[in-house]
Amino acid sequence: MARTLTRPDRPDPPDTVPELPEVETIRRQLSPVWSGRRIVDAWTYGTPKFAAAVDAIGARVESIGRRGKYLMVELDDDRQLVIHLGMTGVLRVGSGAEPDPYLRASWSLDNGTIVEFQDVRRFGRVAVVARDDHSSLPTLHELGPEPLSDDFTAASLYRSLSASHRAIKTQLLSQRPVAGVGNIYADEALWHARVHPAARSITRPQATRLHTAIREVLAAAVERRGTTLRDYRTFSGERGDNQHALVAYGQGDAPCARCARALRTITLDARTTTFCATCQRLPRERRFDGA
Ligand SMILES: [Zn+2]
Repeated sequence: MARTLTRPDRPDPPDTVPELPEVETIRRQLSPVWSGRRIVDAWTYGTPKFAAAVDAIGARVESIGRRGKYLMVELDDDRQLVIHLGMTGVLRVGSGAEPDPYLRASWSLDNGTIVEFQDVRRFGRVAVVARDDHSSLPTLHELGPEPLSDDFTAASLYRSLSASHRAIKTQLLSQRPVAGVGNIYADEALWHARVHPAARSITRPQATRLHTAIREVLAAAVERRGTTLRDYRTFSGERGDNQHALVAYGQGDAPCARCARALRTITLDARTTTFCATCQRLPRERRFDGA
């Protein structure tokens, strides 16, 4: 069923944001480099979004975790260095060879390694907070359950989605029903679950299918080290492989892999959305009247 993207070099820029599989891939590769090392120096680009990088100087990194799309660098002084990659953020081992105009922060470790945060579009964020005190980071503070944990169940998803009348996809992107799902994996999971992205109500069987689809789509993408459309690279600088497995996101008017009718692309709450109008039907009384 694997197909290549029809337009691999022309994704919507706002839709290239690293989601859970991409951040998890970076976490796995970054972990052995950073864990156990003391941060002996740091540098930051002079804006408040990155300035906190230097607050981690002197701390030893115990481990690197992840919540949704956030990297949680656990420090030995009961604090966390929280890193959000934004739209175009890249973490890598610095060469220090030549100046990089897109470098936003860097951390020097006690073995001479330098971890660099490059972010062309500057939607990323760095914060140092007391462990598990996320009140200064509202999205993280209100983040839904981890999709691959036991906290995320079909019942929790049904409850959360039923509590609002906003479009199902918009609710998924809010990070509240479940953490880590962005535009790519929302389109993919909704297609697999046969749920219309603009539906404003969900049945229990649909929520059960969507719960399964979210877990399967994310787990498979983690296995493939994420989806590389344009900016995303793993910590080792490689591309992910999941772009070859996409069946909805970015597929334009390609035939649906299930029913062979042309997929449809709409703008839903300002996000480009691709779905199959045949397989993913709206409830009769709530037809979507969009493009
Ligand atoms: Zn279809």
